[in-house]
Amino acid sequence: MAMLTRDYPGSEIAVGMQLKHAATRALANHWTQGYMDHDPSWARLLTTAIAERRFQRLRDLFDADGRGEAIGFGPGADQMRLAFAAVREKAEALRASGKAQRGDIRVEHGLLKRTHLSIRFGKLNHCTLDENNPVGAKCLEDAIVPPGHRGPLIDRCQPARCSNSIIAAEHLPIWQAEHASLTKLRSLPALPANRKALIDQQIRDVEIALTKAGET
Ligand code: SF4
Repeated sequence: MAMLTRDYPGSEIAVGMQLKHAATRALANHWTQGYMDHDPSWARLLTTAIAERRFQRLRDLFDADGRGEAIGFGPGADQMRLAFAAVREKAEALRASGKAQRGDIRVEHGLLKRTHLSIRFGKLNHCTLDENNPVGAKCLEDAIVPPGHRGPLIDRCQPARCSNSIIAAEHLPIWQAEHASLTKLRSLPALPANRKALIDQQIRDVEIALTKAGET
């Protein structure tokens, strides 16, 4: 509904009618299979919206990098900066040869879109794994990958140790809070030795992440 109202002027009215209709059905206590059916056109719209949002965030990173701001820390961030630099170089070459239709930042943004840089935005880190070349993916090491699965195994992510990981400034508060809470937990007197060892390992991982970000 939100996507429709964003894309089509005047569609608030249609949304209002639809919501009213849905509410009537709910209050009548009738279950309507039609509301729950998978709708391929909605699925396509959702996929497009997610891709657009992802590109917006990638473009924001690109612009921040262009302004000389830090886009993040770790090897993933270094790779991303190199990829951004290559896009800028290519845009300059297009301008110099007169092949670029425009002279402004839209040349870079167009190239960025066509380059299809791989990035997944997350709460603890961003992942730059390329599904076609999953080199260095810690989450895939010794993993049983489900048949047909492509890309990272997010629940096995190791943000501090993977070469595809970007730890950005927006992630740091979570890492700092995690460090404080693990340190507090570690100081409890009655912890069994194996639990202490596990917490020590977790603290080390958090410290690796914070060190990469220049926070320790
Ligand atoms: S370990 Fe994390 S950052 Fe690395 S490839 Fe897997 S999901 Fe991406």
